[in-house]
Amino acid sequence: MEPQGERAAPLALVVDDDGFVRMVVRETLEQSGLEVCEAASGAQALELFATSRPDIVVLDVMMPGLDGFATCAKLRGSVRGSRVPILIMTGLNDAESIAHAYEQGATDFIMKPLNPVILGHRVRYMLRGGHTLDALIKSEARLGSAQRIAKIGNWEWRPDTNQFTASAELCRLMGIRSQDFAGTFDAFIQLVHPEDRHRVDEALRRILSKWVPCDIDHRLVLPNGADFTVNLQAEAVFDDQMKALSIVGTAQDITDRKQSEREIHRLAYFDSLTGLPNRVLFKDRVVQALLHARRYGTTLATLFLDLDRFKIINDTLGHNIGDLLLKSVADRLAESVRHSDSVCRPAGQEENHSLARLGGDEFTVLLTNLRDVQDAGTVARRIVESLAQSFSIEGREIFVTVSVGIATFPVDGDSADVLLKNADSAMYHAKEQGRNNFQFYSATLNAAANERLILEGELRHAIEREEFVVYYMPQVDLRTRGIVGAEALVRWQHPQRGLLAPAEFLPAAMDTGLIRAIDEWVLRTACRQNQAWQERGLMPVRMGVNVSPSLFHGNSLLSVVEEALRHTGLTPACLELELTESITMRNVDASIAMLTTLKAMGVQLSIDDFGTGYSSLSYLQRLPIDMVKIDQTFIREILTQSSPAPIVRAIIAMAHSLNLYVLAEGVEQEAQWRQLLNQGCDQAQGYLFGLPMPAGEFASLLPPVHLREAS
Ligand code: C2E
Ligand code: MG
Ligand code: MG
Repeated sequence: MEPQGERAAPLALVVDDDGFVRMVVRETLEQSGLEVCEAASGAQALELFATSRPDIVVLDVMMPGLDGFATCAKLRGSVRGSRVPILIMTGLNDAESIAHAYEQGATDFIMKPLNPVILGHRVRYMLRGGHTLDALIKSEARLGSAQRIAKIGNWEWRPDTNQFTASAELCRLMGIRSQDFAGTFDAFIQLVHPEDRHRVDEALRRILSKWVPCDIDHRLVLPNGADFTVNLQAEAVFDDQMKALSIVGTAQDITDRKQSEREIHRLAYFDSLTGLPNRVLFKDRVVQALLHARRYGTTLATLFLDLDRFKIINDTLGHNIGDLLLKSVADRLAESVRHSDSVCRPAGQEENHSLARLGGDEFTVLLTNLRDVQDAGTVARRIVESLAQSFSIEGREIFVTVSVGIATFPVDGDSADVLLKNADSAMYHAKEQGRNNFQFYSATLNAAANERLILEGELRHAIEREEFVVYYMPQVDLRTRGIVGAEALVRWQHPQRGLLAPAEFLPAAMDTGLIRAIDEWVLRTACRQNQAWQERGLMPVRMGVNVSPSLFHGNSLLSVVEEALRHTGLTPACLELELTESITMRNVDASIAMLTTLKAMGVQLSIDDFGTGYSSLSYLQRLPIDMVKIDQTFIREILTQSSPAPIVRAIIAMAHSLNLYVLAEGVEQEAQWRQLLNQGCDQAQGYLFGLPMPAGEFASLLPPVHLREAS
């Protein structure tokens, strides 16, 4: 019907084999302001229709050749003829042929003989209706393309019938063909992301119950599994009685908007060069961490880092190299901080938020949940040492060092600003101390850090100077209280400070990695000692040796054990390796493989400090071990609890069900012994049966073999 826009008056095509009728119709229509063209047959009508594109067709039924019905059907089937109004003129005043006319696509009919007045009115009316329909179709098409451009789909939901009508664009957004959409509310809600489904359902139902419009963002899932975010707006349509008839709404694809929001967020909170959090985000993290630390009474530290003489590198090698260096520094810092989870939890570790770049060559680190504030020094030192290794930037070897200042909560401040300021001034102190080092803000912490440094230096020499000694602690059969084993416990004969217990130097040995050398030495010494006793004719006992995580996860354990056994000739079953739960829980499969190999060598295996490491029964079941050693803390509680130690009872029952021996650690009192005996525990060690003692003393407790055989 578009041609009308180009014509002054609407054009009617009049089709009749009777020239008189055509003339009457022409006159009538021309008087009504139409232009007219005429066809004398159906075939001619079809031709004329294609060339002159009339706005309305007035069509006689009874014609030779193609009659009116057939012509009407053909017109409807043509491209332009689907919407044009067709008025059928018929002298057949019977219901059947009228129905037939409608079936063939007629818009209306008029009876012959013609009444010119009625014909004029009818034609004008039909033209008006045609225009309205045309305008509606055009407007729908415009709306459709607007929706497509804005990626908005619309829909209507009738809660009474559950019918859900989705527009073509909404179907396109949801990635389904209109004809495949089931047209129910449930079909729609199934396309919503499972995590958002409840929220969307609730928001839409709230419109009905509370009359509040809905405006939420949620995800839709495409048939290929990908999801995207839409903004859903909806409101209710009410009838005269204010009863909700339906809910109408739109859904707009806002993926792009979300993307820009993310981009804006990134620009606002992250450093563009290194991708690290910036000052704003870092301060926010500190504020959050402080809230947490205050509530749970934990310690945290902020580290302020400044590269030494970075300006010189930048000025001499250029900003490009300077930028690349900063990126490499950021990577190395991230690595150092990540490895600090043995001493603390780097805040928000998974997102690496604990490390930030403030700008230039300044970085900051946030460490939370510190076991000991000195551990912040350990991390700082690791950072200083790791940056001191040379960088290779574009084929150039570059050296850069860093000065680090540390401020801790609660000692050095209780707000983000104060902590950062104090860490900054501690950093200047580090610069004054000759750069390439770290300093605590508080003087006492600095003194302690220095002591630790000295201790580590001495530890390194202690191995060469053979200052370590092994003490042996008796392990007894709980029933007979006779010796069945010994645990080898290391001591440090310090030249100035005397005999030191493990607690005083093992943490430093772990941090520096010296623990592995110490462990290997203890293992060899204990095996040699045990074999020496046996060769002197003393009763053979099992020798327990502690294995540190570092030794277990390194690659020397198997060869060291194998060599110690071969070298000393000790029966493998007389060596027992003590491992903690946490050691074996790290990388379970590799641990099981290692334990299985050790087991195949004939060595005994036990889990030390059992009960403190949260391992489960099913987990223990998978380990090829012989014994569990119940941690002292549970044995201490045995008598203080009103009902006798349910945990100890449970551990014993569980271990026995897995065919494992149970040894109780830290038994100091007769009453504890009796309790454990009642509960069926197998073995024990503790001050009640003997303290850790030098080898000579322990030997005097071991009966000669022939005496035991005689008894
Ligand atoms: P652990 O393996 O659980 O050893 C038992 C510790 O509990 C020993 O402390 C022992 O003296 C103490 N103990 C035993 N019975 C009692 C008691 O009745 N009352 C009290 N109050 N304490 C008792 P020690 O020798 O100070 O060793 C502490 C920890 O140091 C050991 O705990 C072990 O984890 C570690 N350790 C000792 N020697 C070595 C070693 O050569 N290598 C490794 N990696 N760790 C070792
Ligand atoms: Mg032990
Ligand atoms: Mg223990």
